[in-house]
Amino acid sequence: MKNFKIKTPIKTLGIIGGGQLGRMACFAAQAMGFRTVIFTDQKNSPASSVTNQTILAKYSDKKALKKFADLVDVATFEFENIPFETVDYVASQVSFFPRAEVLKITQHRILEKNFLNSIGVKTADYAEIFSLEDLQKNLKKFGKAILKTATMGYDGKGQFVLTKVAEVQKVWSQLVDGPRNKCGVTSWECGVTSWECGVTSWECGVTQLTLGVTPHSQLVTPHSQLVTPHLLRGPELILEKFCPFDSEISVLVARSKNSEIKTYAPLTNIHKNGILDESIYPAKISKALQIKAQAIAKKIVEKLDLVGILAVEFFVIGDELLVNELAPRPHNSGHFSMDACVTSQFEQLIRAITGLPLGSTEFHSEGRMKNLIGDEVKNLEKFYKNPRAKIHLYGKEKIAAGRKMGHVNLLK
Ligand code: AMP
Repeated sequence: MKNFKIKTPIKTLGIIGGGQLGRMACFAAQAMGFRTVIFTDQKNSPASSVTNQTILAKYSDKKALKKFADLVDVATFEFENIPFETVDYVASQVSFFPRAEVLKITQHRILEKNFLNSIGVKTADYAEIFSLEDLQKNLKKFGKAILKTATMGYDGKGQFVLTKVAEVQKVWSQLVDGPRNKCGVTSWECGVTSWECGVTSWECGVTQLTLGVTPHSQLVTPHSQLVTPHLLRGPELILEKFCPFDSEISVLVARSKNSEIKTYAPLTNIHKNGILDESIYPAKISKALQIKAQAIAKKIVEKLDLVGILAVEFFVIGDELLVNELAPRPHNSGHFSMDACVTSQFEQLIRAITGLPLGSTEFHSEGRMKNLIGDEVKNLEKFYKNPRAKIHLYGKEKIAAGRKMGHVNLLK
């Protein structure tokens, strides 16, 4: 084709965050003829090795953020745990999708559930927890419940299943009261996230969940070297009633700058140790529930006024659907779309934020997406031998337990 030009004034896409979602978004963007710039605070991030350009700086570095905004025509983010202020600032400098307010809502479990309930979308019962007494009282009310940090939680991190009021004191002590580490505070108390302090949980070798009991002295970078001073405060907490779900599903929905909306059919998600292990298409639920889930996802994306892509995670209980979580970005359960759909979730995101028409969300193949977590990435032989297996690796140097190293799409 002679003199082919993308029919949009947008040439360069900016992505805040350098993880695997950013990496796969770069692949899709480049295939479509766009340049990409990644902004990340992590050296050698999965996205950095495939993007045209990387800006490596702290998320609070306004000069670097301004440079990033000046380099790109439109920007987005690839994970929620980016400080709201970072996104808000970049959005004041350059066209940014989804709008910053969406991030504020979806990075906070309480704001997210308040929002969903305000638009008539059902969630698990929940309570904001400010004290040990709150926790005891609400646990009695719910019977079985999950205590979660309101922010910075993902892949089941920062979560405690509680059944007995007698257990509560111990968990409370871990989360809020102590134990005191070498530097004198737990990560929850110090109020700085692992993102802010510059050491990722992978680098320090301990997960958020075990930080409370692993002495900080075992970290590679001691917290005493943190740039952000320790603030003595506990985490914001939410207690959710335990949902005895039959299954978990998720729906991806895209909404473009031109308000065009397209939903993907749901997938059934199987978790292991709180981390997504497999997503299966078609979802193992009735056609009526599939349609209902898609309608709820469409309503949420409209009410959020979100441009981009949104993943809606549901608990299925009989013929009832409760929304568990929203992710305003490409989602792990959407990776099957890369090989099984006419339009992958990454291409769809790019179409949505650049004002191109959305692509077809039709699945041309059934099958499943299997995450390669930790050491699983060492056993690829059986997948390479399968001619209908599509392997995607994220280029991460260090293997760690619970770390997502890649995924494989197994087409039926
Ligand atoms: P989340 O980080 O909130 O998505 O939680 C991770 C996983 O924990 C979910 O995918 C569920 O398997 C489980 N989970 C979270 N919240 C609840 C709940 N209220 N009831 C039952 N299981 C839950």
